[in-house]
Amino acid sequence: MGSETNKPFVIALDGPAASGKGTLARALADIYDFEYLDTGILYRGVAWLMLDNGLLPKDEETAAATARGFSLDAIKDAPLRSREVGAAASVVAANKNVRAALLDFQRTFAVNPPNNSAGAILDGRDIGTVVCPDATVKFFVSASLEQRAKRRWLELKEDRPEIQLADVLADLKERDTRDASRADAPMIAADDAELIDTSDLAIDAVIAAARCIIDDIFERSAD
Ligand code: C5P
Repeated sequence: MGSETNKPFVIALDGPAASGKGTLARALADIYDFEYLDTGILYRGVAWLMLDNGLLPKDEETAAATARGFSLDAIKDAPLRSREVGAAASVVAANKNVRAALLDFQRTFAVNPPNNSAGAILDGRDIGTVVCPDATVKFFVSASLEQRAKRRWLELKEDRPEIQLADVLADLKERDTRDASRADAPMIAADDAELIDTSDLAIDAVIAAARCIIDDIFERSAD
């Protein structure tokens, strides 16, 4: 599948933490055989490298230098999903020099997906607005703070049974506020994004809604 110009079909998926966008992105990558990039791991990776080296994520110059020297190899097997790394990721993500250093990698992935794939799916906070403003289709996936906190709590509890729902909710709230209010590339739905609220939807229904929109684009481009 691909358009007549052979440009990759690019799906931009943005939204807050635990909104279900990662699950949706993986399902769509599987269905359409597109390559998937979770851009959150880039910010988590920079944050983890800093924490692991005893550096402070809010130290702007060191964060920018870490981002410039970043490679996916350096974070292989790193524990990126913890609460601490998530919080630190949102601090380094507010640094415009960190974002600039990570931009090329993301754009190259979209323009030239690995394995000569006909399409790329990127999920994050600014894919539809900054990284891929010309994406073939954009989604902004959201859910209530309470629902998202419960989902993330259930995930984190597998490794840390003592973790409290209230603490996870407070983390997400703080991260949402920081991500949405930063000056550079804030988390916001692109004007042309399709909005999906997953608060009361089962994952199958979320996937079906996205497929409907994507298949419609394929049909129209085949006409
Ligand atoms: O999506 P995830 O929770 O892994 O992202 C971790 C943090 O990385 C987010 O809270 C956000 O601050 C940052 N991020 C971003 N832009 C992206 C992806 C993630 O600012 N495209």
